[in-house]
Amino acid sequence: MHSQPHARTHSQIPALSFDDLKKQVNDGSVDTVLVCLVDMQGRLMGKRFHAGHFINGAYKETHCCNYLLATDLEMSTPSGYASTGWEAGYGDYVMAPDLNTLRPMPWLEGTVMVLCDVLDHHGAPVPHSPRAMLKAQLARLEQMGLTAMMATELEFFLFQPSFDAIRKSGYRDLEPISGYNEDYNIFQTTKEEHVMRPLRNHLWNAGLPIECTKGEAECGQEELNIKYAAALDTADYHSIAKHAIKEIAWQQGHAASFLPKWHKDRVGSSSHVHQSLWKDGENVFFDKADDLGMSSMMKSYMAGMLKYAPDFTYFLAPYINSYKRFKKASFAPTRTVWSVDNRTVGFRLCGEGTKAVRVECRVGGSDINPYLAMAAQLAAGIAGMEEGLELPPPFEGDAYSGDEGMIPVNLRDARAALLGSDMLRAALGDDVVDHYARAAEVEIEGFEAVVTDYEIARGFERC
Ligand code: ADP
Repeated sequence: MHSQPHARTHSQIPALSFDDLKKQVNDGSVDTVLVCLVDMQGRLMGKRFHAGHFINGAYKETHCCNYLLATDLEMSTPSGYASTGWEAGYGDYVMAPDLNTLRPMPWLEGTVMVLCDVLDHHGAPVPHSPRAMLKAQLARLEQMGLTAMMATELEFFLFQPSFDAIRKSGYRDLEPISGYNEDYNIFQTTKEEHVMRPLRNHLWNAGLPIECTKGEAECGQEELNIKYAAALDTADYHSIAKHAIKEIAWQQGHAASFLPKWHKDRVGSSSHVHQSLWKDGENVFFDKADDLGMSSMMKSYMAGMLKYAPDFTYFLAPYINSYKRFKKASFAPTRTVWSVDNRTVGFRLCGEGTKAVRVECRVGGSDINPYLAMAAQLAAGIAGMEEGLELPPPFEGDAYSGDEGMIPVNLRDARAALLGSDMLRAALGDDVVDHYARAAEVEIEGFEAVVTDYEIARGFERC
């Protein structure tokens, strides 16, 4: 078992200043810097630098092949992307470290990390880079004098065997770390503390404002909550936390999976996104004169989310498997309705009547790329405010019982809604929409090219 790190008071961003890094390199306590970008799938990709070389100059920039923002999960190089390809010779992007994201990685010895912005040869942000996409929507808000405060919840499964053992079994040996539903269960989660305690403590010491972990409503299912923060920080926290969960599970000989639905009879994993808009340090979604404490700005923002939910569903459910989660009576929403503290709907009002008032989007699965999910939802909310949309009355009862206002039921429909979205084309740019529509198409093509176990078992003898 790993030794527990010393407590550190979480207070500031950056978690590690460049000056402090130089001191730590010079006294020998740090020797490695992970220089990372976030790819289309939300993964950390990059290089391990010797810390001496990083502080001597590599902190300014390094380079990567531009295929890193046009691959699938398998790192294959599908054709059909306008931004890169064999014809263009797969050139380079600049990775420009954002030193505000410098932080220790206390679960890896002598190691710190930094996230990069991805730039082209002219120094301009690559428009389909996830961090750039979120920054572009935040810049629109800034022009209105607003900031977005967000939180994402991370649900995932812990498995007893290691990643290697599971892969060697052909993904058959999928034994969850616990044998029963562990929702809020303290005794069962005590048995998982060799993974979850270092996770909370190491992330806290990396500068992430960790709130809590808890057992979720299935064998081996866990949830990590991180305190709400400015949207870009929240997206950074999400990617770093997801990465840490996998690494710390691996260090302890287990596997952690963010696949939204790994078994048809098991509950799926989601990633709910909480959001509110702020001005001058106050939540401007709050209006104490309103019965539910909702300002007219909040109502228009939510009306935009409802109107454009089909357009942005792709960014909340980017794979074939993502859609297996959306089942009736599953706590995963199927309709674009909102409600007051009701977990059967896509958009839930939380903290009603208080300064903590916010909307929780429950559509996203555990496989979201948080930058894309937030950028697309902000675009919808901003459109709602710009169009002055009216919010319909809240839904009451069981939202699974109707079929009005359904979100797309599969990746093909979500891709069609993305391609046809004038709102997203205006907000993100045609090139960006077309880039991600191609990514969706690659997933569909890949799935259609394989013969699944299901088809064989069903038809081999009987058709
Ligand atoms: P639940 O009951 O669904 O677990 P919590 O009340 O614990 O939800 O809060 C869920 C998330 O909402 C937390 O990560 C919290 O930091 C975040 N949150 C609280 N207030 C706000 C806000 N004003 N804007 C955005 N997120 C918020």
